[in-house]
Amino acid sequence: MSTEEILKEVAAEVSTCTKCDLCKGRTKAVPGEGNPYARVMFIGEGPGFHEDRQGRPFVGPAGQFLEELLASINLKRADVFITNVVKCRPPGNRDPLPAEINACNNYLERQIAAINPQVIVTLGRFSMAKFFGGEKISTIHGRARKIDGRICIAMYHPAAGLHQQSLKDTIRSDFKKIPKVIAEAERQSEEGQMKIESFKTKEEPPEQLALF
Ligand code: URA
Ligand code: SF4
Repeated sequence: MSTEEILKEVAAEVSTCTKCDLCKGRTKAVPGEGNPYARVMFIGEGPGFHEDRQGRPFVGPAGQFLEELLASINLKRADVFITNVVKCRPPGNRDPLPAEINACNNYLERQIAAINPQVIVTLGRFSMAKFFGGEKISTIHGRARKIDGRICIAMYHPAAGLHQQSLKDTIRSDFKKIPKVIAEAERQSEEGQMKIESFKTKEEPPEQLALF
């Protein structure tokens, strides 16, 4: 199957999925969207009110800020792929539960394998936990690390910056590091050091990059 076909298949399954209780409250599931051949994938937490209505990720106020952040590094939504750890809105925007994240994980794994991004940007605590384990966002935000053949970089959730100016500035300066991370991924890719297979291989210990 082509990348597009896999993404379509995942989106179709997500739209009728009943693997966790989040299906009960959703208006529309939000599989994620963007360039199937994106080099960079952004992974947020879960749909909020506006996303649930429209079936699209990051279309509310946090999404506006994300678009501004992307524009600041000369990227558009259509250049990247944007998705979430859970595809259905948690009631009242509560945190997704571990069981819900687990139930939804297979969709995210298939999206990552199909797109095979060189760079993964985690937005907020829940996607960070998937890649960086038990580390604290206040310590590792803006730092790049090689994980399983990709470069991952953890960012604060854009929503966190909406009401706090100091975090907004931190997020803006963390985003400015992304082009360098992409360039480094490109360089490593040319040297054959990045993931080439579209499917998961053995777990490798995380490698700290000396980028920043
Ligand atoms: N917050 C998220 O984490 N994801 C969205 O899609 C929207 C807001
Ligand atoms: Fe299925 Fe994920 Fe929605 Fe739960 S959140 S119902 S696992 S698509």
